[in-house]
Formats: sequence, C-alpha cells, structure tokens
Amino acid sequence: MQRQGLLIVISGPSGAGKGTICKALLQKNKDLKISVSCTTRSPREGEREGINYYFVSKEKFEDMIEKNEFLEYATVYGNYYGTPRKYVEEELKKGNDVILEIDIQGALMVKERYPEGVFIFILPPSMEELKNRIIKRGSETEDSLNTRFTAAFEEIKYMSKYDYAVVNDYVDEAVKKIECIIVAEKCKCNRM
Ligand code: 5GP
Repeated sequence: MQRQGLLIVISGPSGAGKGTICKALLQKNKDLKISVSCTTRSPREGEREGINYYFVSKEKFEDMIEKNEFLEYATVYGNYYGTPRKYVEEELKKGNDVILEIDIQGALMVKERYPEGVFIFILPPSMEELKNRIIKRGSETEDSLNTRFTAAFEEIKYMSKYDYAVVNDYVDEAVKKIECIIVAEKCKCNRM
C-alpha cells in the first residue's frame, strides 16, 4: 500500500524568515510540494499569481469558505488567508510530502484534522533582529510594521503547541535542521 506523504506545517512570526527557508528547502528537495494559499491581500512587488499566492477577492474567498474548499483559513492582519484543500489531499494521497507555510491560527486548525502532521515553529535569533528584518523587507508601512512586531510577541507564546522549534540564524543551517526533522519523522515506528 502507498504510504501517505508527510504534512509539514511551518509557522513563525513575520520576519522570522519562513518564506526564505521554504524557498531554500524546496530548491534543495525537488520532491517536496508546497501548498499555494489563497489570500485577499494585494500582491507585493514581485509576487506572482499562482506562485506566491492565488490573489482573490473577498467575495470569491467567502464563496470558497461556503463550498468547504479550504483545509483551514484565518484572518491575518485584516486579510483572509487559506489553504486550498484539494491540492494538499491529493498530494498526500500520492505519497508526496507537502509543506504549508501558514499562521498559528491556521496551524492549530490543521492540527485538529491532521494530528499526525509535523509542526515546526521558526524563531528569529532575537526580537531586535526580527524588527530589522521586517524593516529591511521594506514592504510594510509604519503601522503595519508595528502590528506585525506586536503580533510577533503574541505568536511566540504559541510555540509550545508545535513539535519542533528552529532558530533561523543562518538559512542553510535552519534548512538542514528541517531536513533532519523530516528524515527523523519518517523513521518513527508508528509511521512504518
Ligand atoms: P504575508 O502577508 O506576509 O505573506 O503573510 C502573513 C501571514 O499569513 C504569515 O504568517 C503567513 O504564514 C500567513 N499565511 C500565508 N498563507 C496562509 C494560509 O493559507 N493560511 C493561514 N492560516 N495563514 C497563512
């Protein structure tokens, strides 16, 4: 019988480097799949439809909620974000490992449905570094920067709900740690 793929959930505060880590992880591990979320927020410069997100209207998103098309969804910083259910279910069924890069509310919803998932929390080396990274990204207004920074303190409190915490000091090392976690998870007796 085909073994189900691993569902790997990656969360962490804005600026911790989840996006960079996921990109590097996928570049090194061509078999890994990443779920592209739907969002009602506007695209940032350089973001592409279907690559970074599916950018949809509020009406379309609410229609998708009605039709039960999301595995999970949440309101983050005033916008909807959600994981389309079909892609994830199909890939897991095929035996492929799937990464979800989602916020904590969403991760907790996924944990209820997929307790066998692997939940990884990405931490910045320090809160000061976190603030520098968000500023450097340059995509946030002063207000949005403060919102994200204040939220980061709240989010870190939920770290204990996750299986693993990975400090993103250097991206390469953080990626290596996640690769080790995936290997270890696959060797668990209850997954054999
Ligand atoms: P950003 O606007 O910076 O791309 O993302 C804001 C937050 O939304 C991040 O914490 C990101 O992980 C989260 N996010 C992205 N996609 C999803 C999703 O499908 N579901 C949930 N719950 N959160 C998401």
